[in-house]
Amino acid sequence: MMSDKAPDLIVHNSSLVVTMAGSAPRRGAEQGEIAAVADAAVAITGDRIAEVGPEKRVLDSADRHTRLIDVDGRMILPGYIDAHTHPVYGGDRTDEFIARLRGADYEDIHAAGGGIQATVRATRELSVSRLVEEARPRLARMMSNGVTTFEAKSGYGLDVPSELRQLQAIRELDQSGPWELVPTFMGAHTLPDEFKDDRAGYIELVVEKMLPQVEALDLADFCDVFCERGAFDVDESREILEAGKRHGLTPRVHADELSPSGGTKLGVEVGARSVDHLPFIDDESVELLADSDTTAILLPATTFFLMKDRYAPGRRLVDAGVIVAVASDHNPGSSHTLSLERALELAVMRCGLSVEEALAAVTINAAYALEHQGRLGSLEPGKQADLIITDVTRPEQLIYGWGVNHITGVIKRGKMINRRRHRLQHRQHKESRGFSHLFGD
Ligand SMILES: [Zn+2]
Repeated sequence: MMSDKAPDLIVHNSSLVVTMAGSAPRRGAEQGEIAAVADAAVAITGDRIAEVGPEKRVLDSADRHTRLIDVDGRMILPGYIDAHTHPVYGGDRTDEFIARLRGADYEDIHAAGGGIQATVRATRELSVSRLVEEARPRLARMMSNGVTTFEAKSGYGLDVPSELRQLQAIRELDQSGPWELVPTFMGAHTLPDEFKDDRAGYIELVVEKMLPQVEALDLADFCDVFCERGAFDVDESREILEAGKRHGLTPRVHADELSPSGGTKLGVEVGARSVDHLPFIDDESVELLADSDTTAILLPATTFFLMKDRYAPGRRLVDAGVIVAVASDHNPGSSHTLSLERALELAVMRCGLSVEEALAAVTINAAYALEHQGRLGSLEPGKQADLIITDVTRPEQLIYGWGVNHITGVIKRGKMINRRRHRLQHRQHKESRGFSHLFGD
């Protein structure tokens, strides 16, 4: 698509631009189709992609006002989308981690009032502005690792004012950028201490008090529940998700993570946009998912960080025709990484996805999981100009050189947010400089 106006920015001299153009979402054999274009350039006008095409043709569309960024032969990708994170919280669970290293079990810690409860106690202490302050460096680090859009959940408040504060912090973080956040209400993360002996009372609080306020203040797009032993069972989860739907929130489910919880079946039944985790998914649930429009979001960094052996069966899910995405599950207890690339590596090396399938899982399919596939997730004319520049020339090298940050540049809404390599650092956008202090790498 050539417009009359010359592009504002052209990112060029790339050996390979992975566009992810084509069907959204990808499933089955299509999951591995990344629609890569060799020796290509990306033209950007305003906050939108104007064109992706051969180097010379795209450069011919420039005029003297067009900024040029030379990526020195490196691969360009759509900005990563992290479709499952818990980034807004207080406190730190290093001591719990040490206990786990010494053999303590995550579910036992949870049952003894640690785990999520410990984070709830710390989070309830914090104002909206303190929550924002605590979360910003986390999001900045995650963005320096290539993430341009985050799903972000509440669920560490577990009372009306604290849940609302968490969601208000998510809104403030979204509005102050440079990233973009998609908010999920997760009042049903676990039962707070004060309702330990009154399950029905807490569910009533979520349904009667929290959800109406979340809707009235327009604070969330999705409603999530932790459907698991020790948290909420299938019937309780259904009640909450159906109530969420009545308040305009699309369901998501933490499902089949630590046991066969039935969460996947419930997710399909209530029309969830995603069911997440899935190490304990059963055959029947795989088939149900394959026949549905619900995304399976794999969170292998959690399995790794909890030092468990049983990963979600990614290969089987793709082969069955399920829509598969991958996310970090960043949270203070069970997945304390700030790098979606770690989840990408594990999706390939422990869940059996090909590198191409894993890349679709953190771009176009993750966009679909957040209901933004029309605007995000691929580099196509008219879509939002969210892209990342790597230090490699082909997809497999992202995993071959595992354990390091391969992202050298992040462009969000057409603006360069950071560049790590000074020799590539010419013609940087003035507007982006205000954020450069956020990046420690
Ligand atoms: Zn989670």
